[in-house]
Amino acid sequence: TIVDKKVVDWKYAVCGYCSTGCSIEVGLNAQGKPVTSRGKGNAPVNQGKLCIKGIFEHELSDSAGRGVEPLIRNKIYDTFQPTSWDAALDKTAAEFVRIQEKYGRDSVAVVSTGQLLTEEFYTLGKLVRGVIGTNNYDGNTTLCMASAVSGYKRSFGADGPPGCYDDFEDTHCLMAFGSNLPEQHPIIYWRLKEALEKRKFPLIVIDPRVTMFAQFADIHLPITPGTDLVLLNAFAHVILAEGLQDQAYIEAHCNGFEELKATVAKYDPVTASRICGIDADMIKNVARIYAKAPSAMSIWTMGINQSTHGTDGVCGINNLNLITGNIGIPGGTSLSITGQCNAMGTREWSSCSGLPGYRALEKQEHRDEVAKFWGVDESFFPAKRGLQQTDIFPAIESGEIKALWIVATNPLTSMPNQPRIKKALEKLEFMVVQDGYKDCETVNFAHVYLPAAVWGEKEGVLTNTERRVNLVRKFVEPPGNAKADYWIFNELAKRFERGRAMTFPESSSDIFDEMKQLSKGATRNLDISGMSHDLIEAQRGIQWPMREGDDTGNARLYSDGVFPSPNGKANLLAMDYIEDNEVPDDSYPFWLNSGRVIEHFHTRTKTGKIGNLNKFSPTPYMEMNPDSAREQGVKHQSYVRLVSKRGDAVVMVQLTQRVPHNMVFIPMHYHDCVNRLSLGLLDPYSRQPAFKQCAVRIEQIDQK
Ligand code: SF4
Repeated sequence: TIVDKKVVDWKYAVCGYCSTGCSIEVGLNAQGKPVTSRGKGNAPVNQGKLCIKGIFEHELSDSAGRGVEPLIRNKIYDTFQPTSWDAALDKTAAEFVRIQEKYGRDSVAVVSTGQLLTEEFYTLGKLVRGVIGTNNYDGNTTLCMASAVSGYKRSFGADGPPGCYDDFEDTHCLMAFGSNLPEQHPIIYWRLKEALEKRKFPLIVIDPRVTMFAQFADIHLPITPGTDLVLLNAFAHVILAEGLQDQAYIEAHCNGFEELKATVAKYDPVTASRICGIDADMIKNVARIYAKAPSAMSIWTMGINQSTHGTDGVCGINNLNLITGNIGIPGGTSLSITGQCNAMGTREWSSCSGLPGYRALEKQEHRDEVAKFWGVDESFFPAKRGLQQTDIFPAIESGEIKALWIVATNPLTSMPNQPRIKKALEKLEFMVVQDGYKDCETVNFAHVYLPAAVWGEKEGVLTNTERRVNLVRKFVEPPGNAKADYWIFNELAKRFERGRAMTFPESSSDIFDEMKQLSKGATRNLDISGMSHDLIEAQRGIQWPMREGDDTGNARLYSDGVFPSPNGKANLLAMDYIEDNEVPDDSYPFWLNSGRVIEHFHTRTKTGKIGNLNKFSPTPYMEMNPDSAREQGVKHQSYVRLVSKRGDAVVMVQLTQRVPHNMVFIPMHYHDCVNRLSLGLLDPYSRQPAFKQCAVRIEQIDQK
């Protein structure tokens, strides 16, 4: 079919892939079909620019593999049969009720994503707690940002990235930990690059691999995997030993200085160098540059979060910024760059460990406040902390969880130790998957499939990395009989006997108005009571908090030096380095590192269906250093078997100097690849898996 490419109308939206939050205009033809995308010119985040994923985002609405009708079957591996919405929803509610009556309320669990709209996260959290009656509900945060969340809570007393993108334009020094910004968040990188071209300031990149970002850096520190805290403690050691700290800020705004000082005294640069692999003089040099800059900022992504001591790494970064007075000032911040387009939405409004609006689940008064607001009997409202995503799958293995509802995520590809996840899914008595795509690995294990609308097919808000709440308007109808996720949540809620007293608003803007009311509270940062859908659209996004009566949002948190902790001060945390449980040895001599490529997003459920993206990176590969390849007898573009203690995967070799001698690298997007090998060990605070490093060996395979 020849598609009419002539654009007759442009619709405003915000990108649905990464957390940058770029504003997009989607061009529709005379038949109302999206035929092109372009960056919105005056948008504060991206000023007209888009990365390659955004450029082809309009192709999503017509991409292959979409679900167009509900599907049902009695047991997994049987053929799915098309069914009605009534039959699919009745079956789902009946199975949840049956299993809860037989095994208890906490025998069911819900796993969601960072892809839904915030109104949907809020509604899902309300349904799971107020109607289903469990806290076994987790978003994608546990795989992505959980260590940032727990680090912010430990250091500052509450979650929430304190900085903003304008800090790139204001800073005098930027240090990046475990972040490949040009490929992961290309438009944030473009803003940084523009700032660097206008005002030269040092760019320091800390990463074991020579990533694209490392190639652009003034200083690249190729750290030994898993030793970030050693380096951070050594930076603090140098700063304190040389009197470069901001003592006035520390005394006015920080707890725990003496304990920190005593701990980092052990991490002199020479000792630290032996562990983290960075030259001692370079450690001193970088610490001095950072401390002496009039303002300095740190950013990080998965290289810090996805490790067994990710929370300690985050707190180490926060320590560095607190002792140098770099929090809440232009260009001085501690900014975790978040992952999915609405990773923040699930953090803000629902997860197993918190209540809407950053209320604390463990506080009776917060539970009562939410229960009363929703009209839930306080005796029914679940108080016990629920299981996070990484604990839900072991609970399925042990028989504790019998039914699972998966919403817009693909754990069979995204979770570590994939062979174990597959066995767990096979054990479930009932699983329902709600997703825009029926062509998604996890759907193969479902008893019921619910086809959902995706980006552009429904309306609501997303929160980006800098706490900017952005609005996506609906510009196209979902295909076939697919429905918006909040419609599905509302219809399911009606099918449970309990929760009858609760009301579930039908429209996205009505849900947002309910959230606004619940967000009111002077002690919490996350107050959105001054926002509305129309105002968000008019201002091209608003950064929370924005309280009733405010004209606009707030670019930075903690500018007044007051933190949401019991005494209003931030916590400097004294932490010692603990070596990882799995490091290379004679049997598994290589580090396996993982990361992203610019064309793909997460498990490729969406980008794998976009021809113009998939053709650039259709299959996985393994980067290997040419010297190591020579020693192992491995050739460029040959296939090898990579083996870890969990499993094996066959990959094609690409020889490159980007990886050091004792390391190989594989992109994380592909099924039956890196997560057959990855380590399931968890950070003790965040329960986030250590995706980023494990030990592997390389085996030759017959190339005939
Ligand atoms: Fe979308 Fe992120 Fe690319 Fe911007 S940088 S267009 S938000 S994927």
